[in-house]
Amino acid sequence: MAVTTTESLDPYRLPTTARPRRYDVRLRPSLESASFTGRVEIDVVVDTDVDMLVLNAAELVVTNCTVDGADAAFELDEANERLVVRPDAAIRAGTSQLAIEFDGVLNDKLRGFYRSTYRDDDGNEQVIATTQMEATDCRRAFPCWDEPEFKAVFAITLDVDADLTAVSNGTEVERSTIEGRTVIRFADTMVMSSYLVALVVGDLAVTDTVDVDGIPLRLVHVPGKGHLTDFALDVGAFSLRWFQDYYGIAYPSDKVDLVALPDFAAGAMENLGCITFRENLLLIDPSTSTQSEQQNVADVIAHELAHMWFGDLVTMRWWNGIWLNEAFATFMEIAACDAYRPDWERWTSFGVERSGAFEVDSLLTTRTVEFEVHSPSDADAMFDVLTYQKGGSLLRMLEQYLGPERFREGVGHYLRLHAHANTETADLWDAIEATSGEPVRRIMDPWIWQPGYPLIRASLDGTSTLRLQQHRFLFDGDAETDELTWPVPVHVRVGDTTTTVLLDSSETAIALADDDAGLTVVVNAGGSGYFRVGYDDALRARLGPDALSQLTTLERYNLVDDAWAATVAGELAPIDLLAFLEGFRDERDHAVWQAIVIALRGLGRLLGDGPGRDAFRRRVRGLAAPTLADLGEPEQGESGLTAKLRGLLVGAVGVLGGDAGVQARSREWYDAASADPNAVDPELAAAATTVVAATGDAATYERLRDRFLDATTPQEQLRHLYALAEFDDADLLLATCEFALSGAVKTQNAPFVLRAAIANRHHGALAWAFVRDSWAEADAAFPPGTMIRMVDAVKFLNTYELVDDVAAFFAEHPMGDQRLGQILERQRINARLRTRTGESFATQLAAGSPS
Ligand SMILES: [Zn+2]
Repeated sequence: MAVTTTESLDPYRLPTTARPRRYDVRLRPSLESASFTGRVEIDVVVDTDVDMLVLNAAELVVTNCTVDGADAAFELDEANERLVVRPDAAIRAGTSQLAIEFDGVLNDKLRGFYRSTYRDDDGNEQVIATTQMEATDCRRAFPCWDEPEFKAVFAITLDVDADLTAVSNGTEVERSTIEGRTVIRFADTMVMSSYLVALVVGDLAVTDTVDVDGIPLRLVHVPGKGHLTDFALDVGAFSLRWFQDYYGIAYPSDKVDLVALPDFAAGAMENLGCITFRENLLLIDPSTSTQSEQQNVADVIAHELAHMWFGDLVTMRWWNGIWLNEAFATFMEIAACDAYRPDWERWTSFGVERSGAFEVDSLLTTRTVEFEVHSPSDADAMFDVLTYQKGGSLLRMLEQYLGPERFREGVGHYLRLHAHANTETADLWDAIEATSGEPVRRIMDPWIWQPGYPLIRASLDGTSTLRLQQHRFLFDGDAETDELTWPVPVHVRVGDTTTTVLLDSSETAIALADDDAGLTVVVNAGGSGYFRVGYDDALRARLGPDALSQLTTLERYNLVDDAWAATVAGELAPIDLLAFLEGFRDERDHAVWQAIVIALRGLGRLLGDGPGRDAFRRRVRGLAAPTLADLGEPEQGESGLTAKLRGLLVGAVGVLGGDAGVQARSREWYDAASADPNAVDPELAAAATTVVAATGDAATYERLRDRFLDATTPQEQLRHLYALAEFDDADLLLATCEFALSGAVKTQNAPFVLRAAIANRHHGALAWAFVRDSWAEADAAFPPGTMIRMVDAVKFLNTYELVDDVAAFFAEHPMGDQRLGQILERQRINARLRTRTGESFATQLAAGSPS
């Protein structure tokens, strides 16, 4: 018999001598008193005789424990979130039954079993009891082996007030009335990890069931929002079919419920068969929402459904694997969305998201994609752009290198090989390697285990050789770092001919035919590589206006994005960047314009309110206004991306360009849309909201705030909420900060309002001072993990005085999160850029515009 003491235990990993096989969980929530009672019976398989069982429990009061029917002693170890059960007699190898009774609280921290609220039509507050278990909060709902590798069957029963709706992972299989209460039993789940358990109870409405080739699909929401459910059901049905086909594996559970919740810390959660979402990511009216708002909904539904296989059916062994789980779902989300709406050109717009990863990955303080994780909280920092956007981009690069069909074969092989089990990252590489015959692990490992990414310099050596050299790209080019290289799949197009090389040393040479002289050379052809490209003068000269129009949208996007990065790194003067951007006057694709506008906003921040601002505004108008005029008025049947471009340019010309005409039109559009949401194109209505706010007075402020309070769709509500951070008036911006903490804004949104306020073009420093002075209050109120997202915007505070202020504050208030170091480094980079270039840029602007 193995005698164990709790002192000898690993603080982060439960002993594996006992493993749960099946949970019978019965919970009785009281929405009125925000509490619950529960009982769980767990079939436990014990390998060798043991004298105690160790499992997880947190914030629960355990009232009774038995093992095989006999009372057992127990102790709660709150520090380690564990329950230790010691029966009188040793537990023999074999199967035992552990039964535990407990009480708990429905908390307000949006984790574990928690309280979400909404106002009904009569203005009364209604409570929903719901769950968010990932990563380690299932232990707050019931005692369990709360690690992903302890997969088990969950049989869930909810005992609720008679008039309430209850959903969980499985289909409802039995309903009875006991003492005036409704007791609902749900079908057993497949074996799965505890972080995927879901329970939702409340006064909720449920749509009719959509039959998706035999899979029942429904949407669950607060009453009165049924008219906003069609779009999500359509995406859900499409995605379910698409994934079954892509993976070549049937949907692994018995139904899908998509649940819209008024309070939710993350965006959505892939609980098996019971997927939970923020309301704005599920409930939408396509006739009054923008392409971005619709795409967000489609993306997130596809993302969570992709997880039903990749994540739920096959699961990471431990939290170090969370990056692959999320990166893969991100990749599949784009692929499915691209199939759903090809006209949205989703792989092109993914380039914009990839730039978000480049932004962090160009810092010395970036991290490797995967890293060792001891404590589950070590993995908290994995929920960032390097996991989702870099990870997703690396998979896209691999897919484009192997070819989509070979990639898909490998994925299907991986899922079949490891179904219902747990894996490490390398298992995926090995599976794709097995089916493709390519050295996938050798290619991918350096991308996963080295920080950063390369810049590939392309140069002509005479007329017959194209030379490619790779270096790590950093914004701080003076920094001393290790010389790293990556195995880079590079697609090179010369004229119309594309070749692919694997650049796996510091440089390589590609022979050009003599008749290639003068042809356009595109390195990173197709645009999917996770690297930047620097062309020498000779190659750049071949990328003139005629050549540009022959490039794909993503290739042109990359040119602009790389130029902006070169400016941040100090290699391209702001005035030269502006001139470069002005070469894109004929551009008509939204994604490229988005890169241009991002660069213009960055240039605007170098000037602040100082001299040069008026000249800069003229240049912005000169660049963007002709395209806006050329697009004309919205037309019935025009592409969604054309309408989206018009909205983007209204914002750019109206706010960055300070154009009085566009500002006046924006007020008209805003008034018309306020009177009738269907009277104005949604892209114009949304853009106008921002312009009206950025140029609005106190009366406008009150009007927008009231629209936020009375909004009838989640999209209208959020547009107005975030617009409150756009006002160009110190008092109004401070009013927004106070409003964010007033209780009128849900804590799921408040951190993001404050982030937007800190990012305000002119008064961000005031918002920062507010946040600094309200730190303790915000920290106590906001969901865990959201403070760091709020802080992200301090990177825009680009004076050394503010760099020092921010650094001093965080020296006193450490966050224990490596993302903070990244934010502070980026702030220093921005301050350096402004200090070095702001004045000369202003002088050059004032000296005259070449256009
Ligand atoms: Zn995910």
